[in-house]
Amino acid sequence: MLFLLTIRQYYYREKKINLLEEIKAFYKTHQNDLENAYPGLNLNILKAFFKNDLKLSLDKIVSSEDLSKITNHLLKAVPFAYIAKEKHFYELELFIDERVLIPRFETEILVDEAIKLIKTHNLKSIIDIGTGSGAIILNILKNCELDYALATDISKDAMDVCKLNYEKLQDNLLTKGCDFRIADRFSGIDEKFDLIISNPPYIKKHADKDGVHFQTDKFEPHIALYLDDEVYDAWFDDFFREVSHNLNKNGFFMMEGHEDHLEDLARLSQKYFSNCEIINDLTGTARFLKLYRK
Ligand code: SAM
Ligand code: GLN
Repeated sequence: MLFLLTIRQYYYREKKINLLEEIKAFYKTHQNDLENAYPGLNLNILKAFFKNDLKLSLDKIVSSEDLSKITNHLLKAVPFAYIAKEKHFYELELFIDERVLIPRFETEILVDEAIKLIKTHNLKSIIDIGTGSGAIILNILKNCELDYALATDISKDAMDVCKLNYEKLQDNLLTKGCDFRIADRFSGIDEKFDLIISNPPYIKKHADKDGVHFQTDKFEPHIALYLDDEVYDAWFDDFFREVSHNLNKNGFFMMEGHEDHLEDLARLSQKYFSNCEIINDLTGTARFLKLYRK
């Protein structure tokens, strides 16, 4: 009995390792592969991923099995947010997995502009088309008191993640209550809104493919990213018409779009809207459209 216990203790001691030392050794061995997979990565960023995203303290002794689960993901270039199952976006920690797009830093500008617009014009109802994780609408509901909020997505998988996030975060939201609907753009949506907001799929499947990082293409849902080149303009023409139909008289529409197509979309929108502003992201690239009629 004593002998067996000693073997067990020995076995476990063998399996326990110092996390910081292991991270350093792992980075050194796989530096090239890791830096190709994660643009801009260095040892400090990798350490910060373990410490902040995975919430592991680096001086801990961990089991080598636990560590290899993580390093295997890293060697496959799985995005950090899908490994950590969490992403900070604007003012919220969102649950994230492969069912939804990882919310992007630039989209925080869209949220910021929308919150300002809601406050300045006392807007009272909102719909977020293609809500994904709920990144946009939940941050707006955290900051604004609205009478009605509706989050939609064509993907049931994405809608499930959005609902999870709502349940997790609802106590932090100023607006109490949000409806959820699975819908293809505005199909089945009869209500009118003061603010329509969307970060729709906006990458042309073929023409824009070279600009898409391989990690995005490999791991993120294609329904969140791509539209067929042939239907691109028609898709947005239909979308703008539907938006103008579902918008209250003095309402606003805000969307994120592709830097190479935003000006074309701005022109297209003039069939339905008299006013159009293009807003840049922090790199000075055209990134957002704001449409209204006044
Ligand atoms: N709003 C989230 C964000 O900004 O992080 C996700 C945006 S992601 C670029 C686009 C979302 O639109 C995906 O969740 C996708 O499932 C959804 N989507 C794609 N086509 C759609 C359609 N025809 N109608 C409604 N939602 C759609
Ligand atoms: N900004 C994302 C990317 O380029 C695309 C998001 C979208 O299509 N709405 O990876």
